[in-house]
Amino acid sequence: MSMWDGLYGDIDVRRVQPYEANKVYICPGCNQDIPVGMGHYVCVPADAVDLRRHWHYACWDNRLPKTR
Ligand SMILES: [Zn+2]
Repeated sequence: MSMWDGLYGDIDVRRVQPYEANKVYICPGCNQDIPVGMGHYVCVPADAVDLRRHWHYACWDNRLPKTR
């Protein structure tokens, strides 16, 4: 089980609006940049808030294997 599947508690997912995205982040889903000005998610494990990461919308939504 990975931290994104509940290892460190539930994941708090917050939407970062384009105007709030004023730094470049590396998305752990694809290891690509999230450029300044791109809306994305910030995902925070409840029991390990220091491990918060910024994800592309599509990478977060697609991180789990499809079940149907
Ligand atoms: Zn990504």
